[in-house]
Amino acid sequence: MSTSNSEPRPIVAYVASLELMKASSLLPSNKNRSTLVHTLARSLGLFAPDFSLTRTIALVPPQSAGFAELNSYHTKEYLDFVLDPKNMTTDSEDASKTEFGLEDDCPMFEGLPDYVRLVGGASLTAVKMLRNPRCDVAICWDGGRHHAQKSHASGFCYVADCTLALMALRRFTEPSPSGETSRKMRTMYLDLDLHFSDGVSHAFHKTSNTSNSPHLLTFSIHHAAPGFFPASPLANLPTPDDDPFSLSLPLKQGASNRTFARVWNCVERVHAAFDPDFIVLQCGVDGLAGDPCAIFNWSLGPEEGSLGWCINRVINEWRGKKLLLGGGGYDSPNAARAWAYVTSIALGNPLSIDTQIPDHPYFPLYAPSFILEVPAGNMQDQNSEDYLHTIDKAFDDVVATIARRMTE
Ligand SMILES: [Zn+2]
Repeated sequence: MSTSNSEPRPIVAYVASLELMKASSLLPSNKNRSTLVHTLARSLGLFAPDFSLTRTIALVPPQSAGFAELNSYHTKEYLDFVLDPKNMTTDSEDASKTEFGLEDDCPMFEGLPDYVRLVGGASLTAVKMLRNPRCDVAICWDGGRHHAQKSHASGFCYVADCTLALMALRRFTEPSPSGETSRKMRTMYLDLDLHFSDGVSHAFHKTSNTSNSPHLLTFSIHHAAPGFFPASPLANLPTPDDDPFSLSLPLKQGASNRTFARVWNCVERVHAAFDPDFIVLQCGVDGLAGDPCAIFNWSLGPEEGSLGWCINRVINEWRGKKLLLGGGGYDSPNAARAWAYVTSIALGNPLSIDTQIPDHPYFPLYAPSFILEVPAGNMQDQNSEDYLHTIDKAFDDVVATIARRMTE
């Protein structure tokens, strides 16, 4: 595709600032990851105005979210506690910590109030950028906190930025009361993180029941097994009695490019039946090989079924505007590799997977390969042909139901 000189290139909004990077780097589960992510992206030249001939990047500092914005989903009680710096000291009330989930894997830390405001605000800033007619992709790698709940931190997530972003998108895509002729805008939330998107899926579960033409569909591809976080009945394969707009596709251990290539067909069929105008893509990268979670055996790219291949389909083959969010990913250099690669895809100039990591302050952390690729390992893929067939059958019914509901 060629863009004439007179026509301005579409914008990719990349939400980042020093303040956000510092706040996000304090997250106990992902110490310093944000710094690695944005520093690698810069050192690879992704922020240069001439990086791509087809799209241009706009670095956008996040607006810190106000109480009212956060309160559009989170409860006042949770926010009063989590936003009060006095509560970040170790001697704060234990009963409240338990009530709000601020213990175990979600400890309070100095800087948490700023973190919540900035990360919540960063994803909302990305949504605002999509209102610009020239902006068709917005990126917020510090967001994607898909386990956070209304009044409870969970699974390293303190702020429900995905849910807040979906609610904000809904507000600006809502047809005006007099606009009977305009079709209701639809948003598809697709979650590629290793873990089930319980916070987001629960927030919107069954909201489609009250609507003739549902506007939001959530779809999470993840690992599910007894004892694996997070336990939820919504994390299982859909049955005909379930809400067809709250979907899960659980995979077994060792899921590789081959398995993802195979199940991607289900994603495409759901996408075609729902035909969304906006895609919110949670790009958690804890399913990549080499992650300390060590469950999936996914590679970065560009082979069919790889993470990069899947995300490229969404960005470049699906119509509509896309919001890309981060998520899990506990090998920080690999998370930086993945999100730099995805950013280059979003910019329409995908980096070669063999690209050398440039010399920059964190260069030694990219040993021993010092290249962009996150290759698959030797783990056996336990997603058998029988199981993949079961998935196909479950989605045959779901796709038919969605198609019927959308034409009612
Ligand atoms: Zn995860």
